[in-house]
Amino acid sequence: MKPVAIIGAGITGLTTAFYLKRKGVSVAVYEAGGRAGGVIQSICKDGFLAEFGPNTILETSPKIAQLVRDAGLESRRLATDPQADSRYVVRYGRPIEMPGSPLGFFTTSLFTAKAKLAVLREPFIKPRRDGVEESIAQFVVRRLNQEFLDHAIDALVAGIYAGDPYKLSLPHAFPKLKTLEDKYGSMIKGQIFGARDRKKSGEVAKDRAPKFSFDECLQVLPDALAAQLGDSLKLNALVTKLTRVNDGWRVTTADGEMEYGAVIYCGTAHRLAELVLIGAPSIARQGKTETQAEQCSALRAFSEIRYPPVASVVLGFWREDVAHSCQGYGMLIPKIEGFKILGTIFSSALFPNRAPAGHLTLTSYVGGERYPELASLPPEELVQLVCDDLRVLLGVRGQPVFQHCALYPKAIPQYNLGYGKFKDLMNEIETKARGLFFAGHYRDGVSLGDSIVSGVNIAERAGNFLGAA
Ligand SMILES: Cc1cc2nc3c(=O)[nH]c(=O)nc-3n(C[C@H](O)[C@H](O)[C@H](O)COP(=O)(O)OP(=O)(O)OC[C@H]3O[C@@H](n4cnc5c(N)ncnc54)[C@H](O)[C@@H]3O)c2cc1C
Repeated sequence: MKPVAIIGAGITGLTTAFYLKRKGVSVAVYEAGGRAGGVIQSICKDGFLAEFGPNTILETSPKIAQLVRDAGLESRRLATDPQADSRYVVRYGRPIEMPGSPLGFFTTSLFTAKAKLAVLREPFIKPRRDGVEESIAQFVVRRLNQEFLDHAIDALVAGIYAGDPYKLSLPHAFPKLKTLEDKYGSMIKGQIFGARDRKKSGEVAKDRAPKFSFDECLQVLPDALAAQLGDSLKLNALVTKLTRVNDGWRVTTADGEMEYGAVIYCGTAHRLAELVLIGAPSIARQGKTETQAEQCSALRAFSEIRYPPVASVVLGFWREDVAHSCQGYGMLIPKIEGFKILGTIFSSALFPNRAPAGHLTLTSYVGGERYPELASLPPEELVQLVCDDLRVLLGVRGQPVFQHCALYPKAIPQYNLGYGKFKDLMNEIETKARGLFFAGHYRDGVSLGDSIVSGVNIAERAGNFLGAA
């Protein structure tokens, strides 16, 4: 089999490379940056082990645990502390624990009696079958009520996408919710009756999936996968051009050109938009015959995918300087509550070895679609802004003993209304430009688990393609 070029050494590209290699395919992984892992970034400093990007992997598919086993990392895997199952949502200016059972839901102070009645009414609301693409906000208001949107879903959306619920597309950003309505007529009925289907497929609902990391944080996984690649991993190698050649693709970087039997793009959508694509059969756009320049502009359409900026602020405190117990996963903050931070993860409560004795770590996120301008504040101002909110919300006193900020100028792709046109374009290019594949967070879901599954699946598809070729 001819070798395969993989563009991007985030978790998608590394997973893809790992499984292609196990099939006996030789690979080269091109990474624009100087390290492997993409948005996964762990640091170990002053006795604190911390994450800037993702904190945990949600094990929603058996393929995720399989990767950990195949990479030989089973013994380094750490499950989250059982107490980390509790999550808080801010209401009335304070974090309130989210109910974990139906009884808890009906007794919680997080929702009013009106919102609780809306849940009882939900199974009797007719499903929408007119094919109109709704935002998650429209869907929630239609099936539940405005209070659910403002006080729960808005916070959840900030936690997953750092996004705007009025813009995020229900079928693209929350496909499982859409399926529940389509298949069972209601979210509640779907939760109850869908359990058997989920068991059959081996998939686990996100709210019930086990969460894990590793003894030395998430970076352990990309490091282990990258180590198996040796010289096949090319760092500081931005791919700028892909050219169709007789039986494959030529990949161009500043250092030169190489030819491969197939190319798998596992980078970001905004970088994809900058790639020059030469010699692919015409990609039809409104019936025009396309010149090479127009083919390039087909990729340029991906620049419309929004990636808002997010700053991650990791702060360490003496335990006695924080009034709240901080036992749990963290707190989500709806916009309506008027705070600047999007949410905070109680990082050191998740795993045993994340902070020195007598300390705790809180990781807060700032920016997103809600306040994009705040993400790029200088670190001192970011720390001040986060401390101001944490003082009110968690009773933080004193100054942090550890602080570190990281800016993701383009953090998470927004699967906004109309996202289907980007997926259609990827399908069209894959069909017409044979041997070119797309995978990763901008296509198959934004979570780490989604990216791993995307990598496993694309390795299978590309392997079949090469075998057939
Ligand atoms: C702040 C933050 C917090 C998050 N928290 C969580 C969480 O707790 N749990 C969770 O499940 N998910 C979380 N996510 C999402 C999850 O981490 C990502 O969706 C996932 O890691 C994406 O992996 P990827 O490999 O698809 O992309 P990336 O990690 O973005 O990697 C893509 C790589 O491709 C490279 N690249 C792009 N173009 C080129 C090119 N032309 N040539 C060469 N290289 C190129 C880039 O440099 C990059 O390294 C979070 C994301 C962020 C930003």
